[in-house]
Amino acid sequence: MTHKHFYWTAAWIAALVPGLSLAQDAGVPYATHVSPAWKVSDRHRPMAVVITPAPVDQPGAPPSDAVVLFNGHDLSQWTDHHGGPPQWRVGDGYFETVPGKGDLKTKQAFGDCQLHVEWATPNPPHGKDQDRGNSGIYIMSLYELQVLDSYQSTTYADGAAGAIYAQFPPLVNASRPPGEWQTYDIVFHGPRFSADGKVLQPASETTLHNGVLVQDNSVLTGPTTYMGRPQYKPQPEKMPLLLQDHDHPVRFRNIWIREIKEPAP
Ligand code: MG
Repeated sequence: MTHKHFYWTAAWIAALVPGLSLAQDAGVPYATHVSPAWKVSDRHRPMAVVITPAPVDQPGAPPSDAVVLFNGHDLSQWTDHHGGPPQWRVGDGYFETVPGKGDLKTKQAFGDCQLHVEWATPNPPHGKDQDRGNSGIYIMSLYELQVLDSYQSTTYADGAAGAIYAQFPPLVNASRPPGEWQTYDIVFHGPRFSADGKVLQPASETTLHNGVLVQDNSVLTGPTTYMGRPQYKPQPEKMPLLLQDHDHPVRFRNIWIREIKEPAP
């Protein structure tokens, strides 16, 4: 924090608004409240863990604490939808949906995360609307960030590239032409449920598409549903990441994920 900036945190708001109760211990991301365990600028407070970020000339490369989900060579971190060997094609530094072979999912489960994915739709393009370079990144296997060729191509707004499918259109269309590599950088927080199944905190997602903000802390109304308003159901805090087979040969490369962990109190 600098003297020029004043951040409205949940704790400040709670302190200033009598009677307002904020669920600080109900699984709300830690960044939304100031820890009461430390004094301001307390030198006894542990410093952040040191990691090595990407080299300056390779800004999309994984930082040292990321789990690399595709290293350019094999699909060893993935299974097919039934838990068997993946049936998608691995090329030189990328892999590609093989239409009809089903979705891919990670062996490891993830919840709150920072996720980097690079993808490219077919060139020359084929089809139109939703039938044009369609895939999807289903965080926790449930919440689809749409992958689509939306370059000079129209569809319904909440089905375009950068949309949280059927819920939130992207703020802008930052698409590159078909065949060019595109990036998603995602910050996702999963939902939290009480023991009796009530939603304590809905899922939320912030996404940069090719470095441009397209989802600004969008609060999801539930899992991705086709033509319906979804409802949350209690779910584990970690579930596999899933890539959608939508019958189009969409390519992927350089996928890595960092789990967001609460710091020690
Ligand atoms: Mg899709």
